[in-house]
Amino acid sequence: MPNFTIGVDLGGTNLRIAAVEEQGNLLEKVSLGTRVSLGRDYVISEMCDAIRRLTSHYAHAGKLLGIGIGVPGIIDIQTGYLRESPNLPGWSDTPVRAEIELRLGAPVVLENDANAAALGEKWLGVGRHVQDLAIFTLGTGVGGGIVLGGKIWHGMTGMAGEFGHIAIEPEGVPCSCGSRGCLEQYASATAIVRMAREVIDSGIAPQLSKAASSDPDFSAKVVYNLAIQGDEDARKVFRRVGRSLGIAIADLVNVLNLPMYVVGGGVSSAWDAFAPTLFEELRRRSMIYAATAPATPVDPHGASALVGAAGPTKTIVTRALLGSDAGLFGAAMLPLLRS
Ligand code: ZN
Repeated sequence: MPNFTIGVDLGGTNLRIAAVEEQGNLLEKVSLGTRVSLGRDYVISEMCDAIRRLTSHYAHAGKLLGIGIGVPGIIDIQTGYLRESPNLPGWSDTPVRAEIELRLGAPVVLENDANAAALGEKWLGVGRHVQDLAIFTLGTGVGGGIVLGGKIWHGMTGMAGEFGHIAIEPEGVPCSCGSRGCLEQYASATAIVRMAREVIDSGIAPQLSKAASSDPDFSAKVVYNLAIQGDEDARKVFRRVGRSLGIAIADLVNVLNLPMYVVGGGVSSAWDAFAPTLFEELRRRSMIYAATAPATPVDPHGASALVGAAGPTKTIVTRALLGSDAGLFGAAMLPLLRS
């Protein structure tokens, strides 16, 4: 039996733990809710118990090669401190890596969740055939990660790739980071609901207004469903998502000239509602993209066909392939890259 690693995707809502063979095959996945309200100690204990159970279950079959954990927020990669984490209240400025290692009695690799997702897509997803890519994870917030030469680009302290805080509107909506008009305020699930409510408040959106008043769980998905049914007000919200992403991706294309930009996270399932505006904006704002764009939009399953023997020559902008598992698989890969 092959050796394996343990990957953990610790989110503000879900805590998922997987045993993964070193070739990337999933052995087992455990999904738990993250009981944030019970505090950091409780969540870490529950996570460590699940890690121990999985490890002992597969220990007879192969060697445990390491444990990788993806967490939302800004991590200091040298010290293992979580500096900021809006989705894990009470966790900021704490030595998360040391607390976990103390309980497990084993080293762990701690990584930002979007960086882990970038690695997951590189390892097993849409980026299998390229060495360099950037990923946008659109969820409650907007995360980002960069892979260069097959490895996460950490920057000086491990905080690189915060695409959610690229400025889209200089004097736009205030952001939790202290700035204004950040991408996160126009392309996250939270932003979609806010923008829909803004349209409703203008008094000219009958379908959106009806959905918001009748559905206690009025969400980005509800807005999406209206958009694909042809509701012009809902479509307008997603055009704003596409325009904002197009601006941010154009900035990255202009600076980095990478072969691949991936859009992942829950909101990426609304791809068809925002992609046309995204590409329109991207082409307009990046002459590098215009010069290197594929003739037709790239389906994530067909992305590898554009990478020839001599390497990539087209700029591929596409959806993630692994969905919400990208971060989990990427976390499992972290110990393999360290060794
Ligand atoms: Zn911001």
